Amino acid sequence: MQVRTGNSNNAAVLLNAENSEKIENREIPDSNISFVSSSKATDSRSYYFIDTHAHLDMLKQMTPDFAVSESERQQVKYIINIGSDLPGSIKSSEYAFRFENVFAAVGVHPHDAQDFDESTIKELESLIARNKKIVAIGETGFDYFRNLSPKDSQKKAFISQIELALKYRLPLVIHDRDAHEDMLSILKHFSDNGNNKDFRAVIHCFSGDRRFAFDCLEMGLFISFTGVITFLNAKELVNTVREVPIDRIFVETDAPFLAPQEKRGQENYPGFVKYIANKIAEIKQLPLEVVARTTSKNAEDFFNLFNCWS
Ligand SMILES: [Zn+2]
Ligand SMILES: [Zn+2]
Repeated sequence: MQVRTGNSNNAAVLLNAENSEKIENREIPDSNISFVSSSKATDSRSYYFIDTHAHLDMLKQMTPDFAVSESERQQVKYIINIGSDLPGSIKSSEYAFRFENVFAAVGVHPHDAQDFDESTIKELESLIARNKKIVAIGETGFDYFRNLSPKDSQKKAFISQIELALKYRLPLVIHDRDAHEDMLSILKHFSDNGNNKDFRAVIHCFSGDRRFAFDCLEMGLFISFTGVITFLNAKELVNTVREVPIDRIFVETDAPFLAPQEKRGQENYPGFVKYIANKIAEIKQLPLEVVARTTSKNAEDFFNLFNCWS
């Protein structure tokens, strides 16, 4: 496993010598959008973004190596790569070994819940035992939109993964699509209505309404937004973004899916996460720097990024 080399400027260590000079003087490409900026001119290199949810193993038009190095050029300091089935979780762990700035979540998506059994739990546990950069369990949860696995299998797999998270004191990355009611009853139970501080979770790619968001916040959860908030028809979601406190928000791409509006038609990758941060800045009338710093700090604390290095 690669060892962390310093507190802050380790983003550059993966870059080869040939690239590093360019990085020093870099302009942010893609600057054809008008980012919200603070009244004082801020050096954009003084802050960075964390893509808290990406599937590098599912990229089709670029290699994970290219995606990671190109994301660094776009001020993405860390990427949490998410497992969605067992092979994906194994890959996720591999990437965390291979790339210094990539961390891993391991878990099984509700789509694949019907294949989840005791042996899956054992495999996930052996991954966790071997890699300290596995910082979360997920993604897991409910997907009643596509219902690719029966509801009872989804529930069984979800509860097993919640128990795994509690056992290893890891947070959960939760997928919730069209299942808000069932989700709430599980969350209320395991979080003891917000009183169990060992239960830590984020609802990724948040798609609920304001009411559901506040129920989740009350239970101590974080809320993560994707490029969906940039879509032209995302009016209700924009209102939710406006009301959720910035210190409870993460940004994520869910790459290779859900490219932000400005990049629709292209393959999404973690380098596009700044478009989501910028939309949040615009909605909340905050400087982009504040959104970048706050959401990055939220994610660093939640995933305990600075204490998991060996
Ligand atoms: Zn998901
Ligand atoms: Zn995902």
